[in-house]
Amino acid sequence: MKRAIFPGSFDPITLGHVDIINRSVDLFDEIIIAIGLNYEKKYLFNIEQRVQFIKDTFAGNPKIKVQTYEGLTIHYCQEIGADYILRGLRNPADFEFEKAIAQTNRNLSGIETVFLLTSANTAFISSSIVRDVYRHGGDISSLVPDSVAKLKQ
Ligand code: ADP
Repeated sequence: MKRAIFPGSFDPITLGHVDIINRSVDLFDEIIIAIGLNYEKKYLFNIEQRVQFIKDTFAGNPKIKVQTYEGLTIHYCQEIGADYILRGLRNPADFEFEKAIAQTNRNLSGIETVFLLTSANTAFISSSIVRDVYRHGGDISSLVPDSVAKLKQ
């Protein structure tokens, strides 16, 4: 069973995340979207909302699941038997940041990180910009899946 986790904050899930997940679904038997809980971080959407957005988005696909975890990502992978970490790359800054994390993770655990390049039409999307637009009453519907877009502001 080829099981991968796609870790992140997903505050909220965006069309950039959805693109990476949809394109990687044929590469693995199961993809667990893993929301990392960090109690020092302030989130816009609470954990129940972030889980629900993802469940609604992938409701029709039994290969895609959502879970939350605390602590080191590699420990969570070992706990659930996932051999791969999936990450998306938008730009050189993502690459530089992700490279050190991926090499550390492989060094510590042997777990491979698989990178997919974002599609050109979603490369500019980030959860932080979505949060800014949302906070100021802007229209986020072209940036996020319907489960998030239908939120009342
Ligand atoms: P984190 O808090 O770990 O950065 P995010 O929820 O922001 O978590 O992102 C999770 C993963 O999704 C990361 O690999 C990130 O590079 C990727 N990602 C975020 N936005 C996009 C996008 N627009 N296109 C492709 N990948 C993306």
